[in-house]
Amino acid sequence: AQALANGARLLTGAALTGGRFDGDIWHLKTARGGLKTRVAINCAGLHGDRVDAALLGQTHFHITPRKGQFVVFDKAARALVNTIILPVPSARTKGVVVFRTVFGNLAVGPTAEDQESRSDASTDRATLEALIADGIAKVPGLAQMPVTAVYAGLRPATEAKEYRIRPHPERNWITVGGIRSTGLSAALGIARHVYGLYAEMGRRHTPLPRPEVPRARMLAQDGPRDWKQPGHGEIVCHCELVTRREIEAALTGPLAARTLGGLKRQTRATMGRCQGFFCSARLAELTEGRFDRPMAEEIGHD
Ligand SMILES: Cc1cc2nc3c(=O)[nH]c(=O)nc-3n(C[C@H](O)[C@H](O)[C@H](O)COP(=O)(O)OP(=O)(O)OC[C@H]3O[C@@H](n4cnc5c(N)ncnc54)[C@H](O)[C@@H]3O)c2cc1C
Repeated sequence: AQALANGARLLTGAALTGGRFDGDIWHLKTARGGLKTRVAINCAGLHGDRVDAALLGQTHFHITPRKGQFVVFDKAARALVNTIILPVPSARTKGVVVFRTVFGNLAVGPTAEDQESRSDASTDRATLEALIADGIAKVPGLAQMPVTAVYAGLRPATEAKEYRIRPHPERNWITVGGIRSTGLSAALGIARHVYGLYAEMGRRHTPLPRPEVPRARMLAQDGPRDWKQPGHGEIVCHCELVTRREIEAALTGPLAARTLGGLKRQTRATMGRCQGFFCSARLAELTEGRFDRPMAEEIGHD
């Protein structure tokens, strides 16, 4: 959102399908047409090695997705701990953590399971039961707590622990690959480092005199949430206290949510205790004509 507010252009749904470098400029082909750029930065996450191989003809790493499954307990469980419980890390993973989420839940996870598939982020019963048992061993009070949700994500792990960041100055290309666990916390540092590599290629941007700094959506349980402010319209999702004004804002503008998944990430609607049982009908009304597919169809397929 900040990049857009300061003049960046964002092309979504534009998978990179090929391209060539003419010695000065990259001519990239995407699912939404051609693009030209002087310097290309490959930060394609789980597909970083494939993008390098396709465009540079070589890659210096191989992604082996590392799945992490999580169990999210009901908000009542949050009172059981007042700090993160982090085991001693192993050489491969930091281990299963019990932590309070900023949204007011208590979560246990993640696992670290290497797999070949770059898209299968499913959960499985045996692993989830083991996670719950691990959580109860660390915090016995969890035995009485209901589970609100489970989910999994895939880390773009490689054969090395380190990030796979490498400039290719002769091709005006920077690979920012293998940004595995810790990537989120390190994002600003990585960006600064990559800008340094870009500058070493003789490229520079003049800093904006007064950059726009848009306000991020406030979703933290204890923050100044929208439902506490007047004029919010109505509370649509009662578990997560998501207002109609928040839903409308998420459906508007250059980063408008086009799927229920996008709306969930932007507002947390349907992500609480009832998992959308009570608010889905109202949400379907509010999102009518705004999503790529009607909500009923999307839920039916998920
Ligand atoms: C289970 C788990 C636990 C984690 N724990 C932590 C933690 O404790 N601390 C922490 O800091 N971080 C953590 N992370 C890591 C963090 O979330 C990742 O490092 C980060 O998401 C990876 O960032 P990225 O920008 O490299 O990739 P992504 O966020 O995956 O972004 C890559 C983008 O490239 C796009 N793309 C891919 N291929 C193409 C193509 N051919 N054409 C066009 N676009 C393409 C994708 O659509 C995507 O938008 C965790 C992640 C997981 C899954």
